[in-house]
Amino acid sequence: MDIKMDKILLYKKAYRYLENLTPLKIDCGTLCNSACCSGSTDSGMLLFPEEEMLLSQENDWYTIIERDNLKLLVCNGHCPREHRPLACRIFPLLPYLNSDRATDFELQMDYRGNSVCPLVQHSSPKELDRFFHRKVQYLFNLLLQDSDIKKFVKMLSTEQDGIRRLIDG
Ligand code: SF4
Ligand code: SF4
Repeated sequence: MDIKMDKILLYKKAYRYLENLTPLKIDCGTLCNSACCSGSTDSGMLLFPEEEMLLSQENDWYTIIERDNLKLLVCNGHCPREHRPLACRIFPLLPYLNSDRATDFELQMDYRGNSVCPLVQHSSPKELDRFFHRKVQYLFNLLLQDSDIKKFVKMLSTEQDGIRRLIDG
């Protein structure tokens, strides 16, 4: 089914739903000195389709840059937690789709973080906090009903396949 939903409402729900969850019960930033928040100015967190509509234009902690028709939020390493984008809320998980059916999705560790995140390097999705895992799973059952988000997740999944091939050598 191809449903176009009100993305602002969807993302607001997603933000609220994942507001207080973290990948582990402990603060995993202590394992790695918060490596995933220490990107350089040319890296950033990919925004989901039209997610930028939710982000304020007036801020002093990020800029949004465009690359290959995608939008990246590049932050200064500190954010008001309640405003962090969806990609930060679900990392180190990645919704993965290997068919056109939204119901075929699964959660994988996000291999884009393989060089920085000890959880990506040493854990599987099921080893993360089960509430975190369950809520991300539930959320993408909903988000993937939106055709733009499904297309975006397919693109991420293709990228994931490429990184996996590189890791496996
Ligand atoms: S890099 Fe991984 S372990 Fe470190 S803070 Fe980010 S999610 Fe947690
Ligand atoms: S927006 Fe916040 S959570 Fe996301 S990378 Fe930047 S500091 Fe980290």
